Amino acid sequence: MARDWRKYLDESETRRRDRLVKIEKIKKQKRSVRGRTVDDWLVDGPLIEGDESEELFAQRLAQLTSAGQRRGRVIEVHKRNIFVAEENQEGQPETELLWLCSVAKRHFQRAHKERNFVVVGDRILFEPDADVTFDSEGQPKETDLPRGVIQHAFVRHSRIARRDPLNPEWEHVMLANIDLLVVVASVFHPEVRWGLIDRFLVQAELEGLPAAIVLNKVDLLENPKLATEDFLERYKKRVSIYKNIGYDVFEICALKPRKTQAEVKRLREAFKGKLIGFAGHSGVGKSSLLNLMKPEFEQIVDENPDIFYKGRHTTTYNSLLQLGIGAYAIDTPGVRSFSVEGFDSITLTECFPEFRGHKCHYRECTHDHEPQCGIKAAVEEGRISRERYRSFMGLLKGISFREGEGDSSEAEVIADIKARTQARDEKLKAQQALDTEDEEQ
Ligand code: GDP
Ligand code: ZN
Repeated sequence: MARDWRKYLDESETRRRDRLVKIEKIKKQKRSVRGRTVDDWLVDGPLIEGDESEELFAQRLAQLTSAGQRRGRVIEVHKRNIFVAEENQEGQPETELLWLCSVAKRHFQRAHKERNFVVVGDRILFEPDADVTFDSEGQPKETDLPRGVIQHAFVRHSRIARRDPLNPEWEHVMLANIDLLVVVASVFHPEVRWGLIDRFLVQAELEGLPAAIVLNKVDLLENPKLATEDFLERYKKRVSIYKNIGYDVFEICALKPRKTQAEVKRLREAFKGKLIGFAGHSGVGKSSLLNLMKPEFEQIVDENPDIFYKGRHTTTYNSLLQLGIGAYAIDTPGVRSFSVEGFDSITLTECFPEFRGHKCHYRECTHDHEPQCGIKAAVEEGRISRERYRSFMGLLKGISFREGEGDSSEAEVIADIKARTQARDEKLKAQQALDTEDEEQ
């Protein structure tokens, strides 16, 4: 049995060589606008290419699955322990059918630097360990988690990566195959930071991902002590800015969903059948929001806070959750470290949808001091909001999110960078420890 797929790997050698040639080509070119890197090709190793003819793809897949390999979706990664949910016929992960997998050794050798050969959301093929026995339905008999080895990874249709803050040539892929990035913020506690929302939106645009904004805790808008008239005015203006650009904005109260029943319904519709990445600071109500997607909420009948699940969502790793509406969610606690600094103006202009299509005199116009700038003209005419223009400038100059009230101060930004650097150092140390481990083996 095992021979079959090895044969397949041999056959794929030519394709691998083709790919290496392509990589060399890409290396010579500048990085693409989307920020995709060469690593995309490298980390996947010998895989089933999505861009080949569908027929060939189906054939290979059939060959591998009939040789005993199973389709799965990575739902959690803890160093070398990878939790995989088996995929059903429709390609949807069944989070009840869990496997504990490792990655085939050859992939480590190919991409030694890339620790996360697979990331949460990846679609993979794994081979059950020899000692796993199956029942008549083809399901493993073990009461413990059955084990397997990941042999192949599918090409990612989308991914979220962050650049290494100290080495911008490096990228860490964090999540794969997301259909929608949902930026969650709360109007108060903590107060909404529009500059941060813009950062996440830019990240989504950069990855070619559709994005939506959820504004939670709108019940607090009724509190005149918090929501001054001035605040309300600015808030409403902001909401309409994003709606006008074309982003879906949902204003909800996750704690008392009845209060915003129509919005919650609309939200559930928008989420249906998708793999959703949630971005946002802790405390904004991501867990509460996820709970609205549970089957118990099919009809919003209860406001009993006891149903609120906690625990797992407050963890510090990415984890894929099955929601009650045929949707899947990845909570992304790590998104704090999304880094979109250091982009040229052309790329960044592309990431602000309402900036597209304005003609400037200079091709590489930074829309700052240049004459005959279409963007500045649009700002003057009110077709582009000043708020978003300021955000753009901030990002372009690497100042990141500093503008406006409720946004972070310089000290916070510096603290953020410090925290990131420290996290990176710790990660490097951990990696070195693993490397030594490798050598000892
Ligand atoms: P997470 O850290 O983003 O997962 O946020 P949680 O779901 O744990 O919520 C953080 C806090 O905000 C909790 O104390 C919730 O009770 C509170 N909260 C969540 N949703 C709402 C809401 O709609 N209105 C108000 N007033 N509080 C909320
Ligand atoms: Zn311009």
